[in-house]
Amino acid sequence: MAAKTATKTKKWRSRAVTRTVDAGNSAYCAVCEELIKFRARIRADQIICNVYVSNKWDRVEHYHPECYKKAKSPYGAPAD
Ligand SMILES: [Zn+2]
Repeated sequence: MAAKTATKTKKWRSRAVTRTVDAGNSAYCAVCEELIKFRARIRADQIICNVYVSNKWDRVEHYHPECYKKAKSPYGAPAD
């Protein structure tokens, strides 16, 4: 697996992205623990974070954008 050793160790960082909420979304917010609901009339966004623990992918967390902000963006500013 370690075919190429980089001079700098590349670490897997937890990352946050903004995604629109799809119809039939069934993810719960990691902060308020409420369902992140799809709303037909307004374009609802959610924050999806790939969380790495000890350089390994651990889990995906979902957040309402407001909740993510309230939690002080634990995984950095979300990318689009
Ligand atoms: Zn929430």
